[in-house]
Amino acid sequence: MDNFTELLSSRSRLFHLKPINVETYLSESLSSYIARLAEAHCMTTGELIAKEMTPILKKPYLTNIAANGGTRFYENASMLNGIGNAARDFVEALEELTLCSDLHHLTMMPLSNVIPDRNLCRNKKAWCPFCLKEWKDNNQTIYEPLLWSLQAVSVCIDHGALLQEYCRSCNQTMPILERRSKPGHCSKCGCWLGTTVSDVSIINSDELCYKIAQEIAKTIAEFPTISIDIKPNAISNFIESCINHTTGGNIAEYSRILCKPKPTVWGWVKGKNLPPIESLAHICKISGVSVMDLFSREPLVFKEVFVNRPSSDENQKQERRKLDKEFLQQQLNDILSDVENTPLSLKETARRLDVDTKILKSYYPELCEVIIQKNRDYQRQQAEERLDLAKKEITQTVLGRL
Ligand SMILES: [Zn+2]
Ligand SMILES: [Zn+2]
Repeated sequence: MDNFTELLSSRSRLFHLKPINVETYLSESLSSYIARLAEAHCMTTGELIAKEMTPILKKPYLTNIAANGGTRFYENASMLNGIGNAARDFVEALEELTLCSDLHHLTMMPLSNVIPDRNLCRNKKAWCPFCLKEWKDNNQTIYEPLLWSLQAVSVCIDHGALLQEYCRSCNQTMPILERRSKPGHCSKCGCWLGTTVSDVSIINSDELCYKIAQEIAKTIAEFPTISIDIKPNAISNFIESCINHTTGGNIAEYSRILCKPKPTVWGWVKGKNLPPIESLAHICKISGVSVMDLFSREPLVFKEVFVNRPSSDENQKQERRKLDKEFLQQQLNDILSDVENTPLSLKETARRLDVDTKILKSYYPELCEVIIQKNRDYQRQQAEERLDLAKKEITQTVLGRL
């Protein structure tokens, strides 16, 4: 091979675009990287995927989707940031096209033996408007962190802001990636998503959802240090050690602390199922260990336990369960009678109360219906107000020109 041919063969077909903030908790997501790569080539995301990526992916499932217009691909684009085949195929293709290495750090693949793929990534884009605004004000590159693409993460740990899912301009949600995706912008109407408004809910750092987001963020920052494959029984041993330390091996008691059904926790201990990432992060918080301890060859060191162990007395247990239901109902009523703050969605209500939406729906169907309706009315009213405002601005502009 002569020098010229050698030089050509060492050049990447697409720009050697560096991912943003790898080795930090704000590490970029693969979907964001694809959108930025398209932008760097003055292409739409749709053109990059159809013209550059699909031919080299040579995967029948992608070729079939592309032949049908690709809509289904974009509807399921959240899988790109996950741990499944799509994430792996796209990482390989992008590494080949850009000659950038370790792009799997932009996905959850480093935890592929540790957590299940199911319900890992959000189907809809979520963002912190305060982060976007700060980056724009500081002339930093606009992108979307991997952390924002996870279902288990509902809050920005820098600003405490509840991640947003609805565009303030068109009131629509959007997939993680679309043909016209541009980081920090709505792919439906093209509007900037970094507009900060006063009605964004701010979460206290003591709340469980904040602590879970913190633990996951800490783990993402460590992705580049994960170099060993963990043994199949490492997760079950890890959870069993946490249970032994915290409740003396009492799975039922630990399940109550975790607010999970005992058979579920039992399944994790016996290695039947893998725990979802939010449960793994919760376990770590309860027992004062870290997700990264799974990858350490050192024995586990438990730092602290910050939960009150429930009493083992059966009568008290029954009383507590009764009280918990009453307490939940009281909390739901309080949320419904709160007229000062933005009406919460049912999902957010369940998240704040640290219970599953299914539990709320089965115990309090009527209250849930009211919560859903109030939130729907609020969203509709907000959309109408924005539309009225836009109409007024247009009228004023037109009148001003006459
Ligand atoms: Zn933020
Ligand atoms: Zn929009």
